[in-house]
Amino acid sequence: MSMLRITGGAIHDPANGEDGVVRDLCIQDGRIVASLPSDAPRLDAAGMVIMAGGIDIHAHVAASSTTMARRLLPEEHAADPQAAPALDDGTIPRSGTGGTVPSTFTTGYRYAGLGYTTVFDAAVAAVAARGTHAQFDDTPIVDGGFFVLMGNDEYLLRQIAAGETERAREYAAWLLASTGGYAIKIVNPGGVELWKRNVRQVRTIDDAVGDPRITPRKVLETLTAAANALKLPHPVHIHCNNLGLPGNIATTLDSMRAVAGHRAHFTHLQYHSYGGEPGKPWQSAARQIIEYFAAHPEVTGDVGQVMFGPATTLTADGAVEYMLHASSGRKWVNSDIELETGCGIVPYVYKDTAAVAALQWVVGLELFLLSPDPWRLVLSTDHPNGGSFRSYPDLIHLLMDRTYRDARLKTINQKYLAGSALADGIAREYTLNEIAIVTRAGPARQLGLVTKGHLGVGADADVTIYAREADLSHMFATPRYVLKAGLVVVEEGQLRRAPAGRRLFVRPGHDPAVERDIKAFFDRYGTISFENYPVARVAGTPVALP
Ligand SMILES: [Zn+2]
Repeated sequence: MSMLRITGGAIHDPANGEDGVVRDLCIQDGRIVASLPSDAPRLDAAGMVIMAGGIDIHAHVAASSTTMARRLLPEEHAADPQAAPALDDGTIPRSGTGGTVPSTFTTGYRYAGLGYTTVFDAAVAAVAARGTHAQFDDTPIVDGGFFVLMGNDEYLLRQIAAGETERAREYAAWLLASTGGYAIKIVNPGGVELWKRNVRQVRTIDDAVGDPRITPRKVLETLTAAANALKLPHPVHIHCNNLGLPGNIATTLDSMRAVAGHRAHFTHLQYHSYGGEPGKPWQSAARQIIEYFAAHPEVTGDVGQVMFGPATTLTADGAVEYMLHASSGRKWVNSDIELETGCGIVPYVYKDTAAVAALQWVVGLELFLLSPDPWRLVLSTDHPNGGSFRSYPDLIHLLMDRTYRDARLKTINQKYLAGSALADGIAREYTLNEIAIVTRAGPARQLGLVTKGHLGVGADADVTIYAREADLSHMFATPRYVLKAGLVVVEEGQLRRAPAGRRLFVRPGHDPAVERDIKAFFDRYGTISFENYPVARVAGTPVALP
């Protein structure tokens, strides 16, 4: 039986209404407990800040796209070698490479080093799920799960064309169970399928995707309903059409209205909140998103903040990457993933001297700072798309410190900032509890992870302890202690232990009758047989459905 009493720290646990309460935190066998014997081992956290372990709701760390990105970026490997850490837990420490798309072991070490203990890969092609499990197996410490790409899936689109909504839902359930996935992901609904046919962009959510019976709206409606009917812990996770284009706010709001009244998560909203139109000045449309959020409590989202510096843009949305490749002249990869989805990758640098990058930075911060409800709009950079997860501490600093933020704002390209809320001045500074909400408690609630994101009795003992510092970027980049399932993995600021993380997945039931039809489709079109398609075994137990 392992026990630990953490003493003297200020607990920031917004899920349980605790805002800096100084009290002991008791841990036994990997969970938070109410009390411990007085002779239990102690960890002195006097004067420090205690939060639950961080949860990244949307990153790209373990997909076939990340493998491809690593192969595209040898220069990053050479520039940022990662020596094996000095572990003392008997596991074999592994060297690796960093950059914007770190190798698997380095990904686990570095997330834990920031106090993050749970990470979701937001875009996995079902056919590549096996590889994702293998990558997560090699990503130590963090618990990991992934979202399965379905918004351009050939079988699903056929069910929509045939009006077979129930079969579409059963297929989604079968696909989640077969892959060991956690949630349904939509990327540019219908648009990736059209891109594979060399059509650049969907213009509106009512454009036909080949067959006039298939539209982005139908994809959104079908999969939103499926996720809710299956009672998945996380609702459908939506990357809207027209990412990155001026004027795309119209499409984003249309997409939200298409599923109004139903739980849905809209991801990296920064990239979908632009006014203006092609050839005209871009503008921030963050206020319009915030107005919608304020009126629709069923909607959640994450920001997808852009941070200045190097990034790797990497998405199922190949059309976007073509545009970025053409405008930046950078090398790129485009890949069609047979019957399911696509993938594009372009390494990129967000320069504060560039008008669009400066606007993107501003739009993201406006979403955070105008948000009426931090529980429903949480932190992400869409790692590594808007910047590496290693930039989160600086982002937290920007949210907590107006002086720091306004000084930075003055130095960036002002071309598209006229009339923006941030340029006009926003006084808001996030509190420590609000940071705990957007990095832990909020993502946990959005993901339906009842034992994560908080420090109440019964919670997983994933805990991050920060020493207070005036320099908030440094404070959040260098936690003094990090615990994973009760084990101290970061000690005095040094990574010491690297246990394996758990896999987070769901197993919704499905009507077995649907399998006959799916098998017929596989027999006719698949490169993998129906029998060999499902991932044979996922270690651990699935997350319980309500
Ligand atoms: Zn993403």
